[in-house]
Formats: sequence, structure tokens, C-alpha cells
Amino acid sequence: MNSATGSAKSWRSERLSKLGSSIFVEVTDWKRAAIASGMDIIDLGIGSPDQPPTENVRQALSDAALRTDMYAYPAIKGGLPYKEQAAAWMLHRFGVTVDPASEVVTLLGSQDGLANLAMATCNPGDVVLLPNPGYPIYMASLVLAGVQAELMPLRPENNYLPDLEAISEEVWQKAKFILLNYPNNPLSAVADLSFFEKLLDKAKKYGVLVVHDIAYSEMGYDGYKPPSILQVAGASKQAVEFHSMSKSFNMAGCRIGFMVGNREAVSALRELKANVDYGVFEPVQEASIVALREAINEPDKHNVGELYERRRDAFITALHKEGWYVESPKATMFVWAKLPDMTWSKGSDWSSRTISQEMLKATGVVVIPGEAFGSEGEGYVRIALVEEENRLLEAAERIGRFIRGEHVIE
Ligand SMILES: *Cc1c(COP(=O)(O)O)cnc(C)c1O
Repeated sequence: MNSATGSAKSWRSERLSKLGSSIFVEVTDWKRAAIASGMDIIDLGIGSPDQPPTENVRQALSDAALRTDMYAYPAIKGGLPYKEQAAAWMLHRFGVTVDPASEVVTLLGSQDGLANLAMATCNPGDVVLLPNPGYPIYMASLVLAGVQAELMPLRPENNYLPDLEAISEEVWQKAKFILLNYPNNPLSAVADLSFFEKLLDKAKKYGVLVVHDIAYSEMGYDGYKPPSILQVAGASKQAVEFHSMSKSFNMAGCRIGFMVGNREAVSALRELKANVDYGVFEPVQEASIVALREAINEPDKHNVGELYERRRDAFITALHKEGWYVESPKATMFVWAKLPDMTWSKGSDWSSRTISQEMLKATGVVVIPGEAFGSEGEGYVRIALVEEENRLLEAAERIGRFIRGEHVIE
């Protein structure tokens, strides 16, 4: 209540309190306190790329921004050139043919599409299958749309894939869509085409739309190239896929991505967006066209995976040396690390939250508690490889001292 008067109203909706995980807010508070105490912070928390796009991409953005014909509402022109280039890239990268006009929708970042898809495709009370742990916007989008989540645990014994047979007949019958994300944030797990085939078969049987978030498609390591679900024959009858320019082309701040696949879902999302926004700033579309074209013609310029692979190798080797035997990720910018054994603190019951907080206080290294991504994330922390190699090595060293209890004054 705002006041004691008769007209007391709250100008904050109840659904706001159900959005996202408060743990991210807490981590920000811990970080602020550590900065205030004069600590040197190494922030491996948020997964925001630390590199810029290539010079040609920045030049295209700048050139387009100087033009006078770039300042109308972008939706008026329909944005076909970007969608055509996205389609060309899908063909080049995955061998997948899509129709740019009817099977691609441009997004203000894939976050925009992920946030609005349930609103565009579901009715209040519908059921949607989500991964646990999962990227926070998945659950938030269901809260906004009044849709009910059925959580699928992703566990190491199942290679972090959902057990499709464990989902009840009743839930399959009721579900509107099933959302998955490989390579995965935060787990860094991967899925192969045979899993996608099985998934599509099941989904087809029950009329469930398969939604695949492939934000980390360009961050596969040791020669591994993450596949698109649309590589499965006939997949676009049953599936849509979210692509992001943010991680693949270091364009996170530009806010652009696209959803591709099933026509009905594409047109539903486009129709919703036509009502709530008027499209991506055209210079950003122009810059993205250059990025996608360059990725086709000069792939060496756009090898974001190479940088993160080098960081991964350096960091994992260093952590192992410090005595923390975490698994080396096959893809993504994340290390999903099982909590270490800390013999110095026998008796204390560490959760992913308390260990992240104590580690930050002792070392200045920011990581995200696994619990922030759902109950199945407990017992792990997520470490993002978003600083230069020398800083990652420094982080590993500090973490090592923390794990061994060398910061503890006897
Ligand atoms: C970063 C990220 C996104 C959001 O990407 P944008 O295109 O910047 O909105 C979507 N999904 C996952 C899993 C991510 O990690």
C-alpha cells in the first residue's frame, strides 16, 4: 500500500515479483560491496562478450547512421535484406534452406523473441515444457503470458538432455511448446542431431512446437560445430530456432537476432511484435548484414570460438592445477563447475549461493550461483570466460588460494 488514504494502490504489478531470479540482484549487491571495499574485481558473472564486432561491421553501422534515409520506423520497409542475409547464412552454415519472407522474423535480440513467444502462441493456462536449470527469460516469459511451466530436469547422468520418456502422456498432450537450448547456458552441454530427431518425433505425435535457442552456435570447440535443429528433414513443420547476433558476432549491445522456422509461429510472433515495437534500427540491420556476409566470405574474421577455446584451455588447465577438477566445456563461454571440496571449512554446509558470496569476498572473482538458473543448478557455479587470458589465470590463482583456505587467518 502506498499511503493510508482511501485510494491506496500499488504501482508495481504482482507479476513483477515473479520475474527472474533475485539471485542476480544479490550478486550485483555483493559485487558493489566488494568494489566499495577497494577490491580488484574479476567479473566472470554475466555472459556479455568483452570483444567488439569487426571493423567492417562497425564501419557499416557508422556509415548507415550518417545516411538521412535511415530514421523512419524500420518496420515500414519490412526489413527484407537482413532476413535474406540471415537465410543465406543459415544455408551456408547449416545447409538449411528457409524462405526469408515467411520463415524468418527479425528480433530486438533473441531475448525479445523469447520474452514474447508465449504471449504470441499460447493462451493463459496453457502448459509449456522448460529446462531446469534454464536461462531466466524462459520462465519470466511464461509468467508474463500467464502460462504454466512444466520443468524438465537436466542432469549429468543423462548428458544434460531431458529424459523425454519421463514426461507424462498427460503433459505431452497439454503442452503447447517445449523449449531447449544447445549448446546450453549455463550447462555448456551439447545435443546432436539424433537427439533432435527423437525430440521432433515425440513433438509431432502430440502437436507440440519445438523451440530451440541456439545463441551459442558459433562457440563449439575441438572442431565441434553445433548443429541447427532445422537440419533434421521436415523440422520446420514442427520447430523454430532462435539465433542471436550477440554472442556469435560480438553485437550484444546492438540488440538484434532472428527466429527462423515454422511459418505459423513466425507469423504469430511477427504479428505480436507489429503491435508492440516497430523493428530494429536500420543501421543495426545494415551492420548485421555485413557481419553475416563476412562470416560467409571471410570466416576467419568471425571465429569467436577460437578466442574462447584458447581461454577455456588456459583457465581449465589453471583451475586443475589449483586442485579444482571442473569439466572442460565442449561449447559456449561458460564453465559449469561442481562445487569444490574445501577441507578447511569442514562442517560448513556450502550452497552455490554461499560459496559464490564467500569466494567473491575473499578473492574479488564474480561467479553466478547455479541455483540462479533453477533448483537443479544447486551444487554448481557458472563461470563466464569473459575476461582476457591473463585475468582468467589470475582468477584461477585466487580461487585456488580460497579453495585451500589460504585466505583464512588462523
Ligand atoms: C545471451 C543469451 C540470449 C540472449 O541473446 P540476445 O540475442 O542478446 O537477446 C538468449 N539465450 C541464451 C541462452 C543466452 O545465453
